[in-house]
Amino acid sequence: MINALSVDVEEYFHAEVFAGVVRSEGWSTLESRVVATTERILEVLGEAATRATFFVLGWVAERQPGLIRTIQAGGHEIACHGYRHQMITRLSREEFAADVQRARSILEDTTGTRVVGYRAPTFSVVRETLWSLDVLEEAGFEYDSSIYPIVHDRYGIPDAPRFPHRRVTESGREIAEFPLSTVSLNGWRLPVAGGGYLRLLPYGVTRWALRRVNLREQQPAIVYLHPWEVDPGQPRLPIRWRSQLRHSVNVATTAQKLARLIREFRFAPVREVLAGGGVLSGARQ
Ligand SMILES: [Zn+2]
Repeated sequence: MINALSVDVEEYFHAEVFAGVVRSEGWSTLESRVVATTERILEVLGEAATRATFFVLGWVAERQPGLIRTIQAGGHEIACHGYRHQMITRLSREEFAADVQRARSILEDTTGTRVVGYRAPTFSVVRETLWSLDVLEEAGFEYDSSIYPIVHDRYGIPDAPRFPHRRVTESGREIAEFPLSTVSLNGWRLPVAGGGYLRLLPYGVTRWALRRVNLREQQPAIVYLHPWEVDPGQPRLPIRWRSQLRHSVNVATTAQKLARLIREFRFAPVREVLAGGGVLSGARQ
């Protein structure tokens, strides 16, 4: 079973937890840490000859084109994380289309290859923003990986399918969807394979969860992380301590967890896992 590995490439200050204290006009004045931290992840992946999908924020790609080319040179897939990291719930359809198109153009101009995958900031493809899948399909995207099939305070579609599938959009189009991984336990869906869950849970729990998805359910899982999750040196910003804890718990050990994961499981870029499962549309491949 080959799982999907994904990295959302953004600065630490792009995390939604800081949206109330750092406005996008102020981003340029903050210390950039994305190059060194992304290179740390690339190093871990390189040691295990593992390739992943990097969902890159357009704002970052515009300022760090060299980093994007380094990622590409490692054989990884470059995909789109939007331009300004705003949750789709705050955007009109036109604003969302413009944001995605701007990011995608930057990424395609930088890499010289077509970008076909999208992940929304803060998994903000939710019930009220399902129209965004139509916008993505119209723009030429082949897959989305933004739906978290759980109950959560910021995101989630609790009853959405848990595994890769072709999703019929509101206007009857189709797009491939790779939902974020969960385990199903006594009727509960537990998020297990990324971000804060990956950092917070002991490694053994993550391993158990992936095995359960792979062996019992015979499905691929998707693991995600951010460069700032392997960065113990990131500056503190003025937010509530509970939010700070949620943002930075275990950042010192995440790189080691990732290294163990990719030793014990097989991973590939999202596009390849979807194509292997027959979930990408044949017409466009
Ligand atoms: Zn993000």
